Amino acid sequence: MRTIAYDLDEIKFCWYDGFFAWHNQTYGTDFQTSEFKEKLHIYMGIIDELLLERIHFFYTTPFFKQLSPVSGSIEATRKISESGCFKKSLYVTSRPIYTMQDTLDSLSSHFPHTKSNGKHEVHFATEWTNHGGKSKADLCVENSVDVIVEDSLKYAKSCAERGIQVILLDCPWNQNGVEELPLVTRVNGWPGVLQELL
Ligand SMILES: [Mg+2]
Repeated sequence: MRTIAYDLDEIKFCWYDGFFAWHNQTYGTDFQTSEFKEKLHIYMGIIDELLLERIHFFYTTPFFKQLSPVSGSIEATRKISESGCFKKSLYVTSRPIYTMQDTLDSLSSHFPHTKSNGKHEVHFATEWTNHGGKSKADLCVENSVDVIVEDSLKYAKSCAERGIQVILLDCPWNQNGVEELPLVTRVNGWPGVLQELL
């Protein structure tokens, strides 16, 4: 029996929609998820440090607490849980660890069926926010993850390089560097995830 890991943002929750909504209201900008195709700081035209500062602030706002679930993700995740194909499911995210309570609350609201032993198991990678520490790939290896559902090309590559099967949701921002690694399968939305896994 295998273990499945899910990324959170853009796999379970519409992070860009929430972040852009907050940013547009706060700074009078007009960023749209549908127009975003490159690195976030390049699309927004701000330096990485300023972007990180704003992202940290965004995590304290109601916009973050109220992120919408990704279309099709609730029903698909329920089907995967009920299929019995995986003995365990867990989450691996690059959100900062201080978002833990809000993250657990939103998972309980939208994805109650992914609990293991009565609670959600969420692992927080620190390579991005702390500029070091454990990566998503490290956490997947440590937790014996067999397959991860991910939208970031960078994390897809680093996980695949460590021998983890990756289901990559096709998104406008993961089109560059599409040389496919043997363990990475690109799919169309949650129906594609189900087709690949079940
Ligand atoms: Mg993501």
